[in-house]
Amino acid sequence: MEYFSTNGRSAVVGFREALLQGQPEDGGLYFPTEIPDLAELAVLPWREGREAETAFSLMRPYVGGEIRDAALQAICEDAINFPFPLVEITPGIFAIELFRGPTLAFKDVGARFMSRCLGYFSGSIGKRAVVIVATSGDTGGAVAHGFAGVDGVSVVILFPKGRVSRVQELQLTRTDANVITLEVHGSFDDCQRLAKTALADRDLRNKYFLTSANSINIARWLPQQTYYFATRRQLPDSEIAFSVPSGNFGNIAAGLIAQRAGLGARSFIAACNANNVVPKFLETGHYTPEPAKATLSNAMDVGDPSNLARIRRLFNDDLDLIRENMATASISDEDTAATIRKVNREVGYTMDPHTAVGFASLEKLAKPGAGEVGVVLATAHPVKFDSVADILGNNIEIPDAVARLNDRERRSIEISNSYSEMIDAIKKSL
Ligand SMILES: *Cc1c(COP(=O)(O)O)cnc(C)c1O
Repeated sequence: MEYFSTNGRSAVVGFREALLQGQPEDGGLYFPTEIPDLAELAVLPWREGREAETAFSLMRPYVGGEIRDAALQAICEDAINFPFPLVEITPGIFAIELFRGPTLAFKDVGARFMSRCLGYFSGSIGKRAVVIVATSGDTGGAVAHGFAGVDGVSVVILFPKGRVSRVQELQLTRTDANVITLEVHGSFDDCQRLAKTALADRDLRNKYFLTSANSINIARWLPQQTYYFATRRQLPDSEIAFSVPSGNFGNIAAGLIAQRAGLGARSFIAACNANNVVPKFLETGHYTPEPAKATLSNAMDVGDPSNLARIRRLFNDDLDLIRENMATASISDEDTAATIRKVNREVGYTMDPHTAVGFASLEKLAKPGAGEVGVVLATAHPVKFDSVADILGNNIEIPDAVARLNDRERRSIEISNSYSEMIDAIKKSL
């Protein structure tokens, strides 16, 4: 398998090279030259515990032999070692719970897969691999835990001190020895600026192989197809409308490429919060990036979603074709909170704000009829977002896996938002 850049000005590369580079030099995104036929994977009978096997079958053609089969199998089993339970919330509307991994969000799937692939290739790079990530909360935890204990790779996480949730803070600061957590006195933008400058630092690059474990990396993006196939196989006789809480549009782009490979879903909804540049684009035909607005579903506060480039490429930039294949909705914070309250009161199911945006979009756009079901991707556990307890006026029980983090040593270095302070902290810790 080869990967080309959606901007068309960088060389075509194989899986290893695309994984190591992350983003092509021309600023585009890597995209596979062929989409394999995975229709068979969509109709195999489902048995619980098949998640890793599904991941292996679908990633095998994408890896194109660059990782030995036995090693790829081991990577999948190690990475996807948690289930995706399908729960009927209200008649005809299901949640596929993607938050049963170590950091309670779907990003565990891609981050764990990518980390193990990078570990696999690290011996052939010739320098120690150092992953540098700025996070507003969710990504950093998934990356820190995904890489925990992976040989040959160190991780530097930057997060804005005091601006992440209680659970996110625990996940970011109770990590393994190969993870360096920097707690920055500043904003997420400061963290991003510091990370970008570090990634381009010539001195650091000479010594280490630097990469960002960005969500656009093919090794994070492509394995996300796993749970679409897992859902399809658990609902073999239904027409499925998937509703995907969307920010950077990687998760829904994975669903759409799975659909092209033969998933056999009926439809897709990109569920957005007030950050609605894609709904506006499909409505008007003009794409205008905007500064991100802060909302309850803050992991979706994106004003210029990168993975739209992949969706446009998948449909040859034909706007009508995109409209046919992807509906969109934009849900306000009031409606998000009202949905969390209503579902909790009526059926006792507690959703996080991102999942609630997906559920509300499904209610708005897809009225399930006979043989039709709606499936919302439940992208995070409600306990990760302190707003849910405020909305419901009660506390949510912390799962054991998170509670146990309290027993681990707090490992975090406080720094100001100055570059020299960051470099000193990194050099001392590596
Ligand atoms: C990252 C994230 C999203 C958005 O996913 P994209 O692939 O960026 O569209 C949705 N929900 C949660 C909980 C997330 O962490």
